[in-house]
Amino acid sequence: MQTKPFNSFEMAQAQFESVAGQLGLDAGVRQLLGWPLREYSFAIPVRMDDGSVQVFRGYRVQHNDARGPCKGGIRFHPMETLDTVRALAMWMTWKCAVVDIPLGGAKGGVVCDPHNLTEWEQEQICRGFVRQIAGNMGPTQDVPAPDVMTSAQHMLWMLDEFESIHRARLPGFITGKPVELGGSMGRREATGYGVVFTIREALKELGLRAQDTRASVQGFGNVAQHAISLYRQMGGTVIAVSCWDQEDQVAYTFRKKEGIDLEELLGIADRFGGIDDSKARDLGYETLPGEAWLEQEVEILIPAALENQVSAENVDRIRDSVKLIAEGANGPIGPKADAAIKERDIFVIPDLLANAGGVTCSYFEQVQSNMNYFWEKDEVLGKLDVKMTSAFIAVSDLAKRDNLHMRDAAYVIAVSRVAQACRDRGWV
Ligand code: GLU
Repeated sequence: MQTKPFNSFEMAQAQFESVAGQLGLDAGVRQLLGWPLREYSFAIPVRMDDGSVQVFRGYRVQHNDARGPCKGGIRFHPMETLDTVRALAMWMTWKCAVVDIPLGGAKGGVVCDPHNLTEWEQEQICRGFVRQIAGNMGPTQDVPAPDVMTSAQHMLWMLDEFESIHRARLPGFITGKPVELGGSMGRREATGYGVVFTIREALKELGLRAQDTRASVQGFGNVAQHAISLYRQMGGTVIAVSCWDQEDQVAYTFRKKEGIDLEELLGIADRFGGIDDSKARDLGYETLPGEAWLEQEVEILIPAALENQVSAENVDRIRDSVKLIAEGANGPIGPKADAAIKERDIFVIPDLLANAGGVTCSYFEQVQSNMNYFWEKDEVLGKLDVKMTSAFIAVSDLAKRDNLHMRDAAYVIAVSRVAQACRDRGWV
């Protein structure tokens, strides 16, 4: 019998349905929140450097805006699908609600592989994306941000196009901008640091000291790099990092049992966080298969790459030494694996809480852009810590009080807030 391919949106809907049942939400609320409010699918024609025209597919899904304008990143990925974007948009709604910022949820994506595109071609994709949807996005409607394989530069091209269309300077259109042009200090670090703020709180609950722990990380992009940096500053040791090798078209895990050196690995990584295996070997790293990050003898696992990386097929490879999993990525643990992990009583900091630092700092960026007054980095990161820590405590208090797993507790808080906003507005 053939197994059905994994579908992120079905997983997101099932997660929502289970919480809706627990909360006793009525049918109207379930129908409204179980699907996006609005979704757009469009073509982006681009004149390539060789003179040919290539047409890329773009998506923007606005899941819910009852609590404020929609918010969420735009990903560039060759395997992007409408259903993945739908799932990610729904997760953004819950993420903004769990950290209690006045924003809804959206997500965008373009089916493309920036590894194979020149700067100019990427700029044309960014501008083309905005031209297709400029009427349905904006500071009061829907505010994009960076995500997988998009950066501050992509955000700036999008902003410039949006401002040209509207003939005004509208920095609140987008977040994750370069610091020199309306971005916030600390935005680059925010998601990874936020992951580690929640790890720090979870370790307290588990009675562990960071300096007595080891971690294994999947991914070496923006989230992973900054999470590794702060975790090491706290005294932890990262022994393995798994990432994509573009040249070999395969993922590897790079391991150094005494601890990886972040600066050293950054020195041999490309701009997407891909590490060259031969250079890593020269620096004394063991090169293991991509999935080996999961089976390391560590206390902490940080999946910070893509969705559905821990599944029914590989979940058993997690060692008994693992006490904590912090979901840096969105949806990295599939539903069956999640059930198995619950059984084993491993403490999970769910994605909607663990990686909410990015969007929280995006919210700070909007506030600063609107005031046209920018805070120092310490102030931004201090406020981020307060937001993440209080969200963690609220989720963990509820989990203890009602004997729930962290994911369920986070969902209960988030979904209740959004459902209440929909009711208060008289939508349902
Ligand atoms: N792309 C990030 C996320 O998945 C940040 C979104 C934002 O800043 O709007 O949370």
